[in-house]
Amino acid sequence: MTPMRNPSFDQMQTRQLALTVACRYCHAPAGEPCTVPGRTPAEPRRPLENFPAHHCRTNHATRLRRLQQADQQRNETP
Ligand SMILES: [Zn+2]
Repeated sequence: MTPMRNPSFDQMQTRQLALTVACRYCHAPAGEPCTVPGRTPAEPRRPLENFPAHHCRTNHATRLRRLQQADQQRNETP
């Protein structure tokens, strides 16, 4: 994957979607970007750079959206 310094439209969409849920991996709350530990224990955590979000967060958000879309379709059907 290309670095987030120059994110593609897809990556920005993925990131936006991932931000709608909390991350179970790094415990970032919804609306806040994923973080990774610093290179040394003394260094503070820093934002994840190489990916839009942790993989499990992206997966979780994608699954949730699919469920919501399925629900919507069911509600629209009389
Ligand atoms: Zn995360």
